Amino acid sequence: RNPAQVVVVSNRGAYTFQEGHDQLITRRTVGGLASAVEPVLTAHGGTWISWCGRIDNTGKDRGVKLGIPPGEPRYHIQEVFLSAEEHDNYYHGFCNACLWPLCHQLPERCSFKKAYWDAYRRVNQKFAHITLEAKKEIYWIHDFHLALVPQLLRHQSPGATIAFFWHIPFPPADLFQILPWGRQIIYGLLGSDLIAFHTSRYVQNFLDTVACYYPARIYPEQGLIRLRNRRILVQALPVGINCHRFEQLAADPAVRARAEEIRKSLGAEKVLLGIDRMDYTKGIPERIRAMAYFLEKCPEYRGRVTLLQIAVPSRNGIGEYGALKQEVERIVGEINGRYDQMYGAVPVRYRHQSLDQAELVAHYLAADVLLVTALRDGLNLVAKEFVASRIDGKGVLILSPFAGAAQELHGALLANPFEPAHLAAKIKIALEMPFQEQKSRLESLRRIVKSRDVRWWWQNNLKLVKSLGSGLTPAA
Ligand code: UDP
Repeated sequence: RNPAQVVVVSNRGAYTFQEGHDQLITRRTVGGLASAVEPVLTAHGGTWISWCGRIDNTGKDRGVKLGIPPGEPRYHIQEVFLSAEEHDNYYHGFCNACLWPLCHQLPERCSFKKAYWDAYRRVNQKFAHITLEAKKEIYWIHDFHLALVPQLLRHQSPGATIAFFWHIPFPPADLFQILPWGRQIIYGLLGSDLIAFHTSRYVQNFLDTVACYYPARIYPEQGLIRLRNRRILVQALPVGINCHRFEQLAADPAVRARAEEIRKSLGAEKVLLGIDRMDYTKGIPERIRAMAYFLEKCPEYRGRVTLLQIAVPSRNGIGEYGALKQEVERIVGEINGRYDQMYGAVPVRYRHQSLDQAELVAHYLAADVLLVTALRDGLNLVAKEFVASRIDGKGVLILSPFAGAAQELHGALLANPFEPAHLAAKIKIALEMPFQEQKSRLESLRRIVKSRDVRWWWQNNLKLVKSLGSGLTPAA
């Protein structure tokens, strides 16, 4: 079948809309999901149903349908409106204050309010309703915001082919069962023909969870669930990046000159880099504390090394995220107050902003070490982008074992973000790693990143979906 018949459904897409004077202003969004999914639609066309950031309280079902990119359309966005109440209870509430912390194994941050759940159900119904009108053959639903959509589609369109990609970690069954509506979430997902995750560990956790709620027959080796008269495939398919694009940017003389400029402006012999959304799962305060520990234990590095932390604004308006920003700013002040030598490198430079791709690559090239030390992360594309950009064979990747990417990226230095002494020791090893070792580690990392790029990812998703039959629910 023609992939143009695909309809993608996700909470956020690659663009947000804002009303301008006489026309709609479109802005690109930043995030792993947008980076992964957009190349599929750009290459093959189709429709992307998503909330584009606009609030509507009039009860209108939908927003505009727009060709994207504007001026040279390759696919369509069908906008979904949220009301202010839905935005609070569904998005801020059930998604960001319930499912997000639960799946990142931080249950103490969860708030289980019935009003959140009610809004989640309503918004999932709204997305399903609009999706069914698109009448495509393959529905590709994305992420934890829309877990009920597959079953809602299945009821209305039993013969549809439905694939689901869960972009965040899937927690162990014991933890997932804390969720008062866990059974309903699992039931919703089981409306899919294919459910895919980044890693085999998340697949295993999901299969264990299904077994807790339903008397299904589960075949872990084949990644298969048989439930009543249906077969559901559950697979690990880690998202890849557009390697070629990052290599191209890394070879661009303007980007290389910009990397030099960044390095010079930092005035440090060695540059450590962190690039993350400002999110408590990314371990930003823990990383800065480890830097303080490092400078305490290795005074010879004071005034010679800088940690440059870019924190992309995220989920503004949620109290916890504002508090995190304040905490980061306080710790940065504290460590600079203590370890700044009044000459040479400042211990931590911090910027609260997002970078475009060329600027991002210039930062990757300016660094000696990239620190991806999330407390928990579904995958982490920044780690892969760094590897793809280092065509010069220089640079060290320090990776948290709690980021999904650690299951793939053999060759990175693993470091426990919860233990400052351990992370500080890895920082020292990275700073002192001989060039030959950097090069050979990067070579093996590059092989992995290149062989499983974004094209590999979506082609395998589509191949699996197609293998499920010609739009008919596979028989048991
Ligand atoms: N990104 C960006 N500008 C920035 C920082 C990040 O465009 O200033 C992009 C980055 O290229 C990557 C994505 O945002 O593709 C972040 O994905 P990741 O999986 O690392 O984390 P997420 O934000 O999805 O949790």
